[in-house]
Amino acid sequence: GKTLLTLINDILDLSKIEAQKMEVSPEPADVKLLIKEIKELFHHAVLEKNIRFILEMDERLPSVIVIDEARLKQIMLNLTGNAVKFTHKGFVKISTLVLNDHNGNIDLQIAVTDTGIGIPEKDQQLIFESFSQQSALNTRKYGGTGLGLAISKRLCELMNGKIDVESTPGEGSCFTLTFRNLKYADEIIEGKTPHSENLDSIDFKGSKILIVDDVSHNRQLILAYLHHYNLELYIAENGQMALEMTKAILPDLILMDIRMPGINGYEANQQIKTGDKTAHIPVVALTAAVMQSETEKLQQAFDGYLRKPINKQSLIKEMIKHIPFNKTVNPIADQEETTRAQTPKNLNIISQAQKSAFRQKFADKISDLTTMIIIDDLHELISQLNHFAQEHQIDLLKNETEKLEQAVDSFDVKMIRHCITIIRQMFD
Ligand code: ADP
Repeated sequence: GKTLLTLINDILDLSKIEAQKMEVSPEPADVKLLIKEIKELFHHAVLEKNIRFILEMDERLPSVIVIDEARLKQIMLNLTGNAVKFTHKGFVKISTLVLNDHNGNIDLQIAVTDTGIGIPEKDQQLIFESFSQQSALNTRKYGGTGLGLAISKRLCELMNGKIDVESTPGEGSCFTLTFRNLKYADEIIEGKTPHSENLDSIDFKGSKILIVDDVSHNRQLILAYLHHYNLELYIAENGQMALEMTKAILPDLILMDIRMPGINGYEANQQIKTGDKTAHIPVVALTAAVMQSETEKLQQAFDGYLRKPINKQSLIKEMIKHIPFNKTVNPIADQEETTRAQTPKNLNIISQAQKSAFRQKFADKISDLTTMIIIDDLHELISQLNHFAQEHQIDLLKNETEKLEQAVDSFDVKMIRHCITIIRQMFD
């Protein structure tokens, strides 16, 4: 189903471009941030494949560049997705290079390099054609539609740019985007840039957020994004659980996936909006849909919607519309962001290795506890969880263990069960 949806979306994009209905809208954008977010989105895949992800930013790259951010992201997702898919050892690297700086305009190159399987010379032009893949490749092994590069190439041209490839079979590939004469501003352009606020300095005053998604990776991504904003985070892995938790904790905001087995996002939202105590709670839909008709339906039913893959900036900006917040002054936030992006360990997305270490140590203890609760055992468990969180530097687990400890101290059985469920889900 997922493959078919990707294929349909790709064909729609391509038809739109070919019918000259695809418009590009250049606006001030933070390209550095966009690239960091792309890295974050592939964090899981890279960990699983045991390859490295390197960012190499040209220091001269201005904070704000006028470019169509959504289209650039689409191209970068395709190139990076391919690089990760076709690389089995070594690294994937995104680098930026400012070629020229003249009168407030720059020429910019963004390259995605990998040490993957490479592309034979005879296929290097062919792969930019619709439905084309390397001739000798096993299509079943790698999947794909053969449309991504065709779309990327055309989008690039619409943006007055070009895309080139250099590759050696067995050694790797490098796809380079070149955009000429991009307007830029060293300082943020007032009121225009989507990143005009330092969103890292926002404090959501302890609001309760319920994240509903049936896919564990999606939940973890949002948990990792929202970790530093003074929020109480709760997760539900299906519509039924979302409804029960909504009634029990009365969250200040719900982030709701649409396609879920059982009760889907629309139905869950409908029930929340008709419940006496829950009708006022804003619900923001999380969706992969791109069709105009679906977008209109979402706008009518929900208080807001966000397109997947969710990026941190748009998530925070959407949340600001629905829950109270303060802005705190945090001059080192930017610095922290860079360090975090470079050290995957601190990203707080839990790796497969950490998950299996956790399951080995805690599987029995935690499954018993959801049915039977013995306070003494819990104290012992809490100290082991704290130790594990510290040893593996998992802040998410540390926070959840703190909540569990408070629940145990106040004999709040419902809360104890809830915390344990969340901890279990983190390592699913
Ligand atoms: P898809 O990945 O869906 O097949 P694309 O148009 O994005 O479609 O890519 C077309 C083909 O180009 C791929 O199937 C693959 O054969 C080749 N290709 C693209 N990127 C790479 C890469 N980084 N390394 C090796 N081959 C690649």
